[in-house]
Amino acid sequence: MVRAENVHKSFGSLEVLKGIDLEVRAGEVCCVLGPSGSGKSTFLRCVNHLEKINAGRIFVDGDLMGYRERGGKLHELGERDVAKQRRSIGMVFQRFNLFPHMTVLQNVMEAPCRVKRESKADVRDRAVALLDRVGLGAKTESYPGQLSGGQQQRVAIARALAMRPKLMLFDEPTSALDPELVGEVLDVMKDLARDGMTMVVVTHEIGFAREVGDKLIFMDGGVVVEQGAPREVIANPQHERTRAFLSKVL
Ligand code: ATP
Ligand code: MG
Repeated sequence: MVRAENVHKSFGSLEVLKGIDLEVRAGEVCCVLGPSGSGKSTFLRCVNHLEKINAGRIFVDGDLMGYRERGGKLHELGERDVAKQRRSIGMVFQRFNLFPHMTVLQNVMEAPCRVKRESKADVRDRAVALLDRVGLGAKTESYPGQLSGGQQQRVAIARALAMRPKLMLFDEPTSALDPELVGEVLDVMKDLARDGMTMVVVTHEIGFAREVGDKLIFMDGGVVVEQGAPREVIANPQHERTRAFLSKVL
């Protein structure tokens, strides 16, 4: 579902990604760990082409992100084609980024209504079902400001799912939450994983990675230092940098 080949990304003279290779199969959950500044968020943003990469390729469901290949050359896609590619990728950030002036239901309906291929009634039914699924069936008419952080993040997940993505990207979805609210968001993510959603999750929640992850990637300094089955990497890290990091978060 996701294949990254030798992805390089620099901001000016700062090389942030130094050749990332990664493969995530359909239905897999890949957790990404690593110290601050190692390039985790940048990599996620490259996957949906929010950042342009300087070298390498990223495929999502077989689609080359941001480019069209013709005669051995890469041609940049226009904004509309990129937007079309992004529609099949849901993203959830650390901060919930809900529209404050819209109700919960309106937030979830906004993107699919804007794309306008479906009737509003269908979108509404789906939005209500998704909000039920994340445990917020009773909050459809509330405004984001009236919800807890955990509730807002669950709305953000429902909103991403409303576009029926093939892939979900999560960037530290629980790290801005009070500890007692983390579990309710992780439970929604677990439920999604059980349902077969392909997910790339940047997280420091080692328990989640161990329990739900099919694969764990440890990044440091813009490279993948180590990867493998979460249980194995966590119990028996092969690299000193992984060991040092895990000893701090465990
Ligand atoms: P954290 O755990 O703190 O979220 P991260 O692993 O997600 O860290 P990134 O946000 O990907 O790290 O940042 C990697 C490096 O790239 C950092 O040195 C950061 O300052 C730099 N960087 C990220 N975005 C930009 C940008 N738009 N312009 C310039 N530098 C950037
Ligand atoms: Mg980050």
